Amino acid sequence: MSWHISPKVKGLLKKGEDLTGLNQEEAEFLLQLAIESKETYALMETANRISRDQFGNKGENQYHIGINVEPCPFNCKFCSLAKSAGIFTTAIPFSNDDIINWATNAEVKNADGLNIMTTGTYSFDRLLEVGKMLREKVSTPLVANTRDINHKEGEQLLDAGFVGAYHAVRLGEGEDTPFKREKRIKTIQVIKDVGLSWMNCVEPVGPEHGIKEIAELMVMARDYSATYSGVMRRINFPGSPFEPFGMITEREMARMVAVSRLVMGAVPRAHCLHEPSPLSLIAGGNLFFPEVGASPRDSAADTEKGRGTSIEECRQMFRETGWDPDLPSNCFEAVSTIEMTAEKESLKAALY
Ligand code: SF4
Repeated sequence: MSWHISPKVKGLLKKGEDLTGLNQEEAEFLLQLAIESKETYALMETANRISRDQFGNKGENQYHIGINVEPCPFNCKFCSLAKSAGIFTTAIPFSNDDIINWATNAEVKNADGLNIMTTGTYSFDRLLEVGKMLREKVSTPLVANTRDINHKEGEQLLDAGFVGAYHAVRLGEGEDTPFKREKRIKTIQVIKDVGLSWMNCVEPVGPEHGIKEIAELMVMARDYSATYSGVMRRINFPGSPFEPFGMITEREMARMVAVSRLVMGAVPRAHCLHEPSPLSLIAGGNLFFPEVGASPRDSAADTEKGRGTSIEECRQMFRETGWDPDLPSNCFEAVSTIEMTAEKESLKAALY
């Protein structure tokens, strides 16, 4: 059997190996490769190899804790917590004890970060209190996953003990959500300006999304130096307005994870995917989000009792695919001053 792949793909994989990153047109080309083709398997092999080299075989568990359930008035169409989804009709704030128990359990199981998620109108002061409370109880790095923020609020997150913030410009932003894309990008600027690490994902990917829109967000994550930025597929909750479109498969997600890995070049410290799937762990992915508490993909108030994947299951998937979840995280090493200054200059040039 021969193993010939097209010269064009070969050239792009060489760029991937050299960690130079891919541009929009190149990403779009790779996103269209046939799923069963030799080129797709070669793409995933390259992404797998560069991730293992660059991340030293570390498997990252960034532990998602959704600290409140609420019928959210922002009504993002893909979100099960949206009021319009009709799944949750009353607010369910989880107690301090619940949050501390989840965090300490995660720490005992070597979680690499705690991703503290709130719904869109959750009290920002309360989020700061949760940060301060957790700082007293655990040493695992805290990442905020909340609404758009200004510089003052970014500084407050730092003071409360957060070292990073997850914030994404979503696919369909402004159409499937009430938020302006520009405002989401400004928040990313705020996160970078105040010195929080910026975490991202191209999300929530469904079969109806065009490759142009997907590739654009991949390239943006690289240009804005995300700590990690892989792919999350959209999960259709029962009654989701997206049910007629279906969902992309784990295999299609793995191909996308591989493309985004090559797009990111030398920039990332890890490469995420959601929901956890072993297929993407042999296609460049090395970061999972085990989940407890509220989840925008679930109809169970506590996703630990629903579709959330436990940290034990994530650790097992890493082990089965040759990643070590017990190595130290690569995500929170200090960024040098020179690197930060260069990043800020390029961000400002892109925005203004
Ligand atoms: S994604 Fe966030 S802001 Fe949008 S409806 Fe869900 S909780 Fe609210």
